[in-house]
Amino acid sequence: MADKGEGVYMPHDHIRENSHVSSIEQYHKMYKESVENPEAFWGKIAENFYWKSQCTGKFWEYNYDVRQGEIFIKWMAGATTNVCYNCLDHNIEKGLGDSVAFYWEGNYPGDASQITYNELLKEVCKCANVLINKGVKKGDRVAIYMPMIVELVVAMLACARIGAVHSIVFGGFSADSLAGRILDSKSSVLITADGVYRGEKMLNLKDISDTAIQECQDAGFTVTSCIVVRHLGEKREPGAGGDVEHHPPKRPCIKLQTKWHNDRDCWWHDLMADASDQFEPVWLDAEDPLFMLYTSGSTGKPKGVLHTQAGYMLYAATTTKYVFDYKPGEIYWCTADIGWITGHSYITYGPMLNGATSVIFEGMPLWPDAGRMWEIVDKYKVSKFYTAPTAIRTLMKFGEDYVKKHSRKSLKVLGTVGEPINPEAWLWYYNVIGDKRCSIVDTYWQTETGGHVLTPLPGATPAKPGSATLPFFGQVPAVVNENGEELDGPCEGYLVLKQPWPGQMRTVYGDHQRFERTYFQKFPGYYLTGDGCIRDKDGYYWITGRTDDTMNVSGHLLSTAEIESALIEHSAVAEAAVVSYPHSIKGECVYCFVTLKEGKLFNDALVGELKGKVRQKIGPIAVPEYIQNAPGLPKTRSGKIMRRVLRKIARNQQDLGDISTMADSSVVEVLFQNRPKNV
Ligand code: ATP
Ligand code: MG
Repeated sequence: MADKGEGVYMPHDHIRENSHVSSIEQYHKMYKESVENPEAFWGKIAENFYWKSQCTGKFWEYNYDVRQGEIFIKWMAGATTNVCYNCLDHNIEKGLGDSVAFYWEGNYPGDASQITYNELLKEVCKCANVLINKGVKKGDRVAIYMPMIVELVVAMLACARIGAVHSIVFGGFSADSLAGRILDSKSSVLITADGVYRGEKMLNLKDISDTAIQECQDAGFTVTSCIVVRHLGEKREPGAGGDVEHHPPKRPCIKLQTKWHNDRDCWWHDLMADASDQFEPVWLDAEDPLFMLYTSGSTGKPKGVLHTQAGYMLYAATTTKYVFDYKPGEIYWCTADIGWITGHSYITYGPMLNGATSVIFEGMPLWPDAGRMWEIVDKYKVSKFYTAPTAIRTLMKFGEDYVKKHSRKSLKVLGTVGEPINPEAWLWYYNVIGDKRCSIVDTYWQTETGGHVLTPLPGATPAKPGSATLPFFGQVPAVVNENGEELDGPCEGYLVLKQPWPGQMRTVYGDHQRFERTYFQKFPGYYLTGDGCIRDKDGYYWITGRTDDTMNVSGHLLSTAEIESALIEHSAVAEAAVVSYPHSIKGECVYCFVTLKEGKLFNDALVGELKGKVRQKIGPIAVPEYIQNAPGLPKTRSGKIMRRVLRKIARNQQDLGDISTMADSSVVEVLFQNRPKNV
């Protein structure tokens, strides 16, 4: 199985020429230095940033072995800096003040704006003053629950400027989830907006915030300030008077249901109007916290991951530069929401630390139609584009016409992150979206890792569809078996990381024991990713799925990703998810959920064909016992399939565990009803 036979795609000359790393030999040389002499490698990179004072102790230090005492990771001890200063002031000093930092593209086509580095610095300083006036100090947590608008970036950078720890909660979360995160992080200031439209759906963020604040109050915790951005504007009864109406072009207004609490609620624009646009950054220690962020919750209750200053800064900046081969003047667009780590590292911090010009998009890929993303690519001449397999698979369902209507000729690098990308979707991304002339970068990483772990470099790494290829600089992956023994050569097992890298998480906020238990207990001396992988004969890594989801059928370990990829190759299948199911003889067997493309029918003939497909691609051992029609799959709000929920559905168990991160729980009921008769 470790000998993966898919094709190899060499970097095109037009991308290779002028790229930061333009051959695989150059990659290997840089990689070797990065892992053999991290201090020299990262030290050189650190020279590009501003340090108020230099590192005084060991450049890096760690303990990965629970038997030797507490787990810790430190980079650049004693150095002081400010990440916000490096994102803004430092770039402005280099002459980038008048360049556009962000093009903002609203939900409604035609609703757009832009902001330069100079303008952004002023807004950030004003917001820093606002937060200080609200009593926020270094180390305090600030909850941010906002749509994809420029004020979200302003708020996060303002926190970074004063040394407050931002805790961003994705704007699609419910009041309960928001309350849980405010309570866990003890954030007494919440920044939100009145509301937002995503497609035609309106989210009344202020009302949801009010409910969450009340829930916190009931639990004994007071949110003292709620700062509200007026994004939609308030709908008023005729003759009601009061504040000037705010009608942004094309955006409908909103009617707030809840009452305004004068002692707690303030409009962002009122506070900002009175604030000075100067603010001297607070100089912070390399290991002071920068932000906390909860994981997606695919495998259980989300973990509050804590990242610190210097190391995260170096890692976010360096991965952005090399993985997207970012060069000044290029337009970069990551479609993730800033509420996820991808948005933290690859919308805000990584691109800004490279002085990049990026697009922030408020809307969604299918609205007003499935061509929206390519329309935006053409509008801004985007050359580096980053999205998730779930978006690619969804767009595939709608066919090529929506893509071909737009030129896309500015595109050069196409990235993906979040789940294993099935070769079928990879090839569609490459052939259809990229017109066979772009590099695909399948980036494997986690909230915990702060930045890319396994990834191709666009001008250097020959790509194989479905493989995240080789380690990024500084990463030392290994594959271990159940006994924690490292495997050599082509093999399959648990993916672990042997050596710390600057962007690694430092703890689970408020629960260091959970940090040690989750990542370091099973195999002392290694960081456990929780993902399974195959390493092939060329040393390429293929993520096979969560190790929790691996199946043992008659003594053979089967990967969810591989079986799902085989199913998706069938022309009727849009998406597939595979889980294990108890079997009296085999121990476990394979249970599949398939979502069909528009207009395709689920029947016995199709089930037969799908089984045949798996038999042909993987072998008789992997042939599914059960195949169930799934009009929709349970997914996290970041778009990942929740196989732990599907496992319960297959077993007809109603207690689904923590489902607070599920995007649409109505699909679950349908799946319970649709269980095959023969189970
Ligand atoms: P939780 O940790 O709460 O269960 P989560 O693991 O989904 O949620 P994230 O940090 O958002 O939270 O996701 C990281 C995981 O996403 C990885 O561990 C891996 O399983 C998957 N992943 C991300 N990128 C890729 C990729 N390119 N290929 C394969 N899997 C990927
Ligand atoms: Mg995880």
